[in-house]
Amino acid sequence: MATVFQSETCGRCAGSGHYSRNSRGSTLCYDCGGAKVRLTKIGLKAEARCIEIQTRLASTVKAGDNVWYAPYLGRARWMWVHEIIERGNGMFDIRHNDGLMVCTEETKVRTVRNEEDRQQTIAAALEYQNTLIAKQAKRAATKEKAA
Ligand SMILES: [Zn+2]
Repeated sequence: MATVFQSETCGRCAGSGHYSRNSRGSTLCYDCGGAKVRLTKIGLKAEARCIEIQTRLASTVKAGDNVWYAPYLGRARWMWVHEIIERGNGMFDIRHNDGLMVCTEETKVRTVRNEEDRQQTIAAALEYQNTLIAKQAKRAATKEKAA
């Protein structure tokens, strides 16, 4: 994600991905997690918009869709939906590669139908990002005039 939305060279590690050694002997930079770049304020807003667009009612998810899986331990990632298991009383489970998501009619999950849908949601968020960048440029220009 860090590369899709507006990012900047990490200021903490100056783009090296490494910083002073911590107590566990790791030099990985906390701010960027070793990615060397981090999202700008605008990039963070665009990413949040992207997640918002992708967050939909769980009841619309079908087998073959992707769901975003963020385990307590381990890396968050997209998972394939294998099947929807009806439990009755409006309850159902989304079974994906790594387990089950227990859902009700009100549950919302981050999901995309396929790669095309994923790209479309990212494009919508990038469009939003462009409006934020344009606004920022306008503000900067106004400031310049005032100075
Ligand atoms: Zn860093």
